[in-house]
Amino acid sequence: MKIVCIGRNYADHISELANQRPADPVIFMKPDTALLPDGQAFVIPEFTDNVHYEVELVVKISKYGKHINPEFVSSYYDEIGLGIDFTARDEQDKLKEKGLPWEKAKAFDGSAVVGKFLPKSNFASVDDINFSLNKNKLQVQSANASLMLWKIDELIVYVSKFFTLRKGDLLFTGTPAGVGKVNSGDVLEGFIENKTLFKTRIL
Ligand code: ZN
Repeated sequence: MKIVCIGRNYADHISELANQRPADPVIFMKPDTALLPDGQAFVIPEFTDNVHYEVELVVKISKYGKHINPEFVSSYYDEIGLGIDFTARDEQDKLKEKGLPWEKAKAFDGSAVVGKFLPKSNFASVDDINFSLNKNKLQVQSANASLMLWKIDELIVYVSKFFTLRKGDLLFTGTPAGVGKVNSGDVLEGFIENKTLFKTRIL
């Protein structure tokens, strides 16, 4: 499986990092080795002093698709979850400055937390899902899917123009404002509406 991620999909997060608003979705990927095994703590890698959490809605692809027709896109996924796109911000800043790819900052081992999934049918609309992240029991990020610049359906259609999607692939849909540094001993807890989808300890 592969993990496709979207960058700069919320206006308030674009502003907080002083990035440009993109004309098209920004796409990057994480390999399957980036998945943090269920229940394991996240270990801050030795190459960075500034790992940021980024909470994101995650869509699980349910069937093979390529050049997906917008009319039928909703049949290509039936579960929505929540995850963290851990980012070595110091490393990413260096790479961005030089115009280099972000993989070292974004795709390292353990950089993708993926929590439980909920059936899409739980939601009246996938463009109206509230989600949030607590760090040490204090809320640090919260948003609604309606704030995405490109909505879930549009992202899947767009991504499938470049990459064939397969059952089990995951799409990270971008983070809202409020990203910040993690420290050893922190506990991150992610919620969709009022349900806990993951709880991750930082070592
Ligand atoms: Zn992200």
